[in-house]
Amino acid sequence: MCIFCKIVAGEIPANKVMENEEFLAFHDINPKAPIHILIIPKHHVENFQSTPPELMAKMTPFIQEVAKKLELDKTGYRLIVNNGEDGGQEVMHLHFHMLGGAKLSWPYL
Ligand code: 5GP
Ligand code: ZN
Repeated sequence: MCIFCKIVAGEIPANKVMENEEFLAFHDINPKAPIHILIIPKHHVENFQSTPPELMAKMTPFIQEVAKKLELDKTGYRLIVNNGEDGGQEVMHLHFHMLGGAKLSWPYL
């Protein structure tokens, strides 16, 4: 079982922000911004490239709700998906990074 599936199963603790039947949002263990949330489907999907569009359609409003709950809808935030080796993906379970709480630089974090 991958590390995020273990978080979903409750085998590894996580600082949860929000969840429903299909998705979970929790704080990144090694935050790269004042607010750094990971948003995942509970069902294992390896990466963005293999994500069915139907899953994304349901994930979009969940991500928007997470932003609202943290009031990042007012101040703004950045979403990042690292996909595959060159993208720097380390955990092979689809996750959106939601970063906020400060004005982020661009193009580098
Ligand atoms: P990736 O490089 O795959 O896009 O990002 C993986 C992210 O997962 C990293 O930002 C890392 O800090 C985070 N992470 C790895 N293991 C754990 C964990 O056990 N718990 C939490 N909350 N975050 C984790
Ligand atoms: Zn998994």
